[in-house]
Amino acid sequence: MKNMPELPEVETVRRILTPYVLNKKIIKVQILADKIIKGEKDFAQKIIGQSFTKINRRGKLLIFQLFPSNLYLCAHLKMTGQLMYANKNVFKVGGGHGDNRIDFHLPHQYTRAIFIFEDKSKLFFNDLRLFAYLKIVDKKILEKIYSAYGIEPGLENFNWNNFKNLFKKSQRSLKAFLLDQSKIAGLGNIYVDEICYYAKIKPMRKISDLSVTEIKRLYTACKIIIAKAIDHCGTTFQHFKIMENGKVKKGGFFNYLQVFRQEGKACKRCGSKYLIKKIKFAGRGTHFCDHCQA
Ligand SMILES: [Zn+2]
Repeated sequence: MKNMPELPEVETVRRILTPYVLNKKIIKVQILADKIIKGEKDFAQKIIGQSFTKINRRGKLLIFQLFPSNLYLCAHLKMTGQLMYANKNVFKVGGGHGDNRIDFHLPHQYTRAIFIFEDKSKLFFNDLRLFAYLKIVDKKILEKIYSAYGIEPGLENFNWNNFKNLFKKSQRSLKAFLLDQSKIAGLGNIYVDEICYYAKIKPMRKISDLSVTEIKRLYTACKIIIAKAIDHCGTTFQHFKIMENGKVKKGGFFNYLQVFRQEGKACKRCGSKYLIKKIKFAGRGTHFCDHCQA
């Protein structure tokens, strides 16, 4: 199964693109698949003549601030989206779901939209499965979109008080809870399993049964795991790729995974006697050590 880019992967894409796409007027927009545009009939008209002044991110959503209209272009990569920038020297940077065979030739069969800047450089929005989307919103709608997201590691709202309050009176499993974007934004399957391992708590536990000490460990784990994953440009298994200077790179947090897709391997905390298990839980492959996670 493919893994959706999570907070660290989307943040990596944001950081890679930012130096290249800002403050250049967009002179043309080509839409190659209408399906990726959400809700706008005059999408291209609203973009042409504008520049991106900033790329923000909330959870797994990228938000390009448009000037002078003060509108916002939201881009969600979903499972297989990719944003790639190329200038006339065929210099390429970007990231997302990738396939080595085609990444070097832009546009390719999965290119769904192309933004052309006044210096003739281009931003390509590619998506294999057509779940990714682009959407233009005004400030009021953007605020509404933001309000649907929960607290987020790295933002001010991610503090101990807000975090512990989320755990009150819920019968849900820890796994389902951590995956809920309206509670904590940006986490997906990889990082939820890693966070539970770090905190020494089984993902199947009911959150109403967790002690304050355990919740505190989870709070610390969220911050540490997400920060470390961002530092290493996310996690690559197969499809998430980063392109810099025309070279494909991998998300290096792969080397630090303790449980995710490590089933059958010895637990690094407990030693060779105890193997990492994988079960299906909350509809997702769930990885843990039966011995050191309570
Ligand atoms: Zn263990």
